[in-house]
Amino acid sequence: MFLYSNRIRNLNESATIAISTLAATLKSQGRDILSFSAGEPDFDTPELIKQAAKDALDSGFTKYTPVAGIPDLKQAIASKLKRENNLHYEEAQILVSNGAKQSLFNVFQALIDEGDEVLIPSPYWVTYPELVTYSGGRNVFIQTSPESSFKITPAMLHEHITPRTKALVLTTPSNPTGMVYDRAELEALASVLQDTNIAVIADEMYEKLVYDGEFVSAGSVSEDMFRRTITINGLSKSVAMTGWRMGYCACADSKLIKLMTNLQSQCTSNINSITQKASIIALEGKVDAQIESMRQAFLERRNIAVEQINAINGLSVLAPQGAFYLFIRIGDGLDSMEFCKQLLEKEGVALVPGSAFGMEGYVRFSFACSTQQILAGIERLARFMATHFRA
Ligand code: PMP
Ligand code: GLU
Repeated sequence: MFLYSNRIRNLNESATIAISTLAATLKSQGRDILSFSAGEPDFDTPELIKQAAKDALDSGFTKYTPVAGIPDLKQAIASKLKRENNLHYEEAQILVSNGAKQSLFNVFQALIDEGDEVLIPSPYWVTYPELVTYSGGRNVFIQTSPESSFKITPAMLHEHITPRTKALVLTTPSNPTGMVYDRAELEALASVLQDTNIAVIADEMYEKLVYDGEFVSAGSVSEDMFRRTITINGLSKSVAMTGWRMGYCACADSKLIKLMTNLQSQCTSNINSITQKASIIALEGKVDAQIESMRQAFLERRNIAVEQINAINGLSVLAPQGAFYLFIRIGDGLDSMEFCKQLLEKEGVALVPGSAFGMEGYVRFSFACSTQQILAGIERLARFMATHFRA
């Protein structure tokens, strides 16, 4: 009946969301499913944040707000970035969006013209290449390996730069590998970019979930990096607020923020007014104790999961320094999609195939669930390996 646009026909569904939805559907049909597919904390949003939302509702804070966010929220973001990240932004340099996903969508739409190249270290989070393609850009993947701890080196970055390179996506801590760039590594990458016009899209969603080493914001390592970096963050992972849809973007170039605000004014306007009020509490440091106790719980789960996975014949994993994913090696020559399909079919365990993140021979396991579920899932995984993939 309808003639769909080429643009929309070429857009793929988010693989992580597709698998989580499939697992939930099978479960609702009565199947015994353990899902490790969703990148979503199992914790509830802290009480103080919920109370702020109830107060906002009761006081009638239910109308349109400025598109880029209410001034006190932008102020809270600016203070947080200054206090915790050593990034000094003004209100006009901040745009609040419906999750970091919309922030990323805005950025690619605002920066990329037909044929522009975007450097994406691989394995990558599923959404980046889709958004780049949707904006008319070309994905240029920088393949990493466990030997470089799944991080890009200055030489690798240098090798992939061309006159068409417009931006580099830098995700630290990484989804799916959990690796974290330290200050020296960021400085070394920064020196490669120094005499270029390449923008850095720094996705720092998992900033609060670091277990080994220190988190450093990409934009904080030098004045030059500050000018070229677009900092992306949000509350979904750090404060267990996935459903509230709060993400933000900050950038020294207030004109870019204005242009993205124009785009947002034509498609979604402001984010939910109640979420905005509640988010201020999260950003002001009032729930830091809860954030820390969630991090501690994730750390314990990580340690248990890494040890147990590495004890299974045929599987191995590098301990992630941050985020809440294990990027597990299943071996060469194995189709990760087929592996995940069979695992779901035979043992009712849902993982995400490495192919969705641009890397065969791996699967992603989210440990953002109870220790009990982790142990039960790993037991099934061990049985699956012993029965079907004897090394
Ligand atoms: N960046 C990364 C690396 C992610 O894993 C996610 C997953 N949700 C997002 C951005 C987007 O998060 P949200 O839209 O919930 O803020
Ligand atoms: N980012 C999470 C993940 O990688 C949530 C799902 C999504 O937004 O794609 O699983």
